[in-house]
Amino acid sequence: MLRTGGVATMASSRHHQQQQQQPRARAQLARRTRAVVAPARRPCSVSVTAAAAGPTASSSPLHAWSRRPSAGAATAAAAAAGAGRHPPSSSATTTTPTRTRHRRPLRVSALDAALPFDFEHRARRALESERKLTVGIVGFGTFGQFLARRLAAAGHRVLATSRADYSREAQEMGVAFFSDADAFCEEHPEVVVLATSILSTERVLRALPLQRLKRSTLFVDVLSVKAFPKQLLQRLLPPETDILCTHPMFGPDSGRGSWQGLNLMYERVRVLSDADDGARREARCANLLRFFADEGCRMVEMACEEHDRVAASTQFITHTVGRVLGAMDLRATPIDTRGYKALLELVDNTRNDSFELYYGLFLYNRASADELERLERALDQVKGGLFDQLHEIARRQIFPATPPGSPGSASDADGAPNGGRGAARGRDVVAELLPAAARSLEEEEEEEAESNGRALPPVGSAPQRRLGDGSGVVRR
Ligand code: NAP
Repeated sequence: MLRTGGVATMASSRHHQQQQQQPRARAQLARRTRAVVAPARRPCSVSVTAAAAGPTASSSPLHAWSRRPSAGAATAAAAAAGAGRHPPSSSATTTTPTRTRHRRPLRVSALDAALPFDFEHRARRALESERKLTVGIVGFGTFGQFLARRLAAAGHRVLATSRADYSREAQEMGVAFFSDADAFCEEHPEVVVLATSILSTERVLRALPLQRLKRSTLFVDVLSVKAFPKQLLQRLLPPETDILCTHPMFGPDSGRGSWQGLNLMYERVRVLSDADDGARREARCANLLRFFADEGCRMVEMACEEHDRVAASTQFITHTVGRVLGAMDLRATPIDTRGYKALLELVDNTRNDSFELYYGLFLYNRASADELERLERALDQVKGGLFDQLHEIARRQIFPATPPGSPGSASDADGAPNGGRGAARGRDVVAELLPAAARSLEEEEEEEAESNGRALPPVGSAPQRRLGDGSGVVRR
């Protein structure tokens, strides 16, 4: 194989070098090997918590002594060496199995680490399912659907019945719809929510086949007036039923996105906690209230009568003003102020509520009529303030410097107010300043005279009486 002497010389010199190096290398290797295979002085018992172990792996004894090192053991040894530690004793056994045979086997106790979490999860699931209710909604109109959608989304089983057919809407939101009230009741909902119009509630309740429901059913109403349904439910329902009166102070418009911070008024009118199943009844009522609280509602416990007193001057007035402004057909403009935008929002929030709802607020809450009267008086007062100013300006123009008692002054010699030429001038000035106002005053006066059966006063006398007494007050 060696063709040239030069090459042969090189090869033989390399061989010579290798021979010289061999004893040194062997000695180094022997030193390293001794260090690696040094046997463990004590047997070790390791308890390992195997996070990833399945249930079957629990407490299984594993024999750590193995003739072949596992990939994991080799890696551990390498890692330990790299970290400047001694490798685990198991790696020593790979090269000297005979020396360790008599030692006790390594026992590994593996605990199913998933167990506590699983237990927690299962407990939570059990609690949640306990809290889920079967809720039947009677009256599947605007508010009934609004409520049903949220209840279904929260995991409650929702049934509904109504005069009209809402099967399609119900199906879309995962609600079981029953056109037949008997079939609805035979589903035995634990909670029956009355979401019918205020005006129809009594009729609907009387027509409901209550005998098909469980005697212990919880009846809830969401009517916007409260004393009326409270009395009605107490009067018409069997005494074994529970009654919870609520008023969610919001609707599909004001509660469109979230219910966070929106008020929910309620009164636990009758929850029979002394009954045999008292604890269950309490829990059921609490679960329903919890649904609203979980949605973010501000829970306000209040007597129904108190609610009506307060709501007449808040809710009814809001609806009334919203409707009045709506009737004015207000429109957005490019220069809207914040205040005006708020008014438009008010119109928007009330426009979609049915007139029946508004009428119900008026008819079934005694305080509403008083509030309407107060609103009217307040409007008159504000109008009066404006006309007073106008009157003052007119008076100054009519009687610039006339001394009292002279013809044309504020009163004639006999004390009759504004009978002379000054009054005529006053009319002209008012007509000039505010023609529409002068006209409406005249018309009003004519109507009044007609209704009193009196002969009409001479043309133009209405403003005389109103504007000429000099008191600065517009009198009716
Ligand atoms: P609503 O006009 O007051 O009520 C409509 C509901 O009443 C519909 O389900 C309708 O059934 C039913 N109904 C009307 N007349 C009936 C009759 N003669 N027989 C049987 N059912 C009749 O509008 P709503 O907004 O949905 O209000 C429902 C209830 O929720 C009211 O009591 C209201 O005070 C209360 N509420 C409403 C709001 C809200 O913002 N809208 C907020 C809180 C509370 P059909 O559709 O099948 O005809």
